[in-house]
Amino acid sequence: MCLRVVLVEPEGEVNVGFVARVMKNFGFKNLILVNPKVSVEDALSYASHGDDVLKSALICKNIDEAIKGCSLVAATSSRVSVGEDLLRIPMTIKEFAKKVAQLKDANIAILFGRESVGLTREEIEKSHVLVTIPASKDYPSLNLSHAVAIVLYEIFSAKAETSQAGIVEQPKPKEMEALLKNVEQAVRALKMPAYRERKTEIVLKRVIGRAFISRHEAYVLSGFFRKVHLLLSRSEK
Ligand code: SAH
Repeated sequence: MCLRVVLVEPEGEVNVGFVARVMKNFGFKNLILVNPKVSVEDALSYASHGDDVLKSALICKNIDEAIKGCSLVAATSSRVSVGEDLLRIPMTIKEFAKKVAQLKDANIAILFGRESVGLTREEIEKSHVLVTIPASKDYPSLNLSHAVAIVLYEIFSAKAETSQAGIVEQPKPKEMEALLKNVEQAVRALKMPAYRERKTEIVLKRVIGRAFISRHEAYVLSGFFRKVHLLLSRSEK
């Protein structure tokens, strides 16, 4: 499994240093900083033996660059919903880690937000799944480096514990992209009012994200949505 830790516009060098350190603790190497607001040089003093992780961190201008080539993108947040807000229906980190541990040859990116305001809705929309660390209702928002530590610890432990490591072949990034494109085109071909179209697209994308479908399932679903799109566009003519 190739896992990228993506920090979106991190604001504190202490946090960035600690993230590199904890990545080293759990054996993860790929750190990406999207438009960082800190000096990597200053953050190095907090990275300890994780300095090599920080020195080899990739700096990107935007999230699209950071997630290129990933078939699974997770956004993290303490702000979740089990009701109306369809974008914020979460998986807990334990559920997510268990699924991730079963994937074979997957390229995964996990997005972490700014210390001040977290991730924007537009940024969350770039992910397939929203992951949360359950915490006290009074104050569920963790420090950035603490959140990264818990996420990586759970994935590290799930990998060590699972007896089914690497059994599910994931869709390749391009196949996942093609599936979501076909979903989008099928939904648009239905010509619903714009707000319902938007809602339906979000729901389908996120249900597919949370289901961790296999490569073959992605292929079948992609074909189905493509057929719907083609039939609907043909019947219009
Ligand atoms: N005031 C911001 C706090 C962001 S904390 C907000 O309310 O969104 C910085 C980042 O740490 C978050 O964007 C998220 O990526 C991660 N984080 C913090 N607490 C978390 C939690 N309980 N579950 C999952 N991620 C969390």
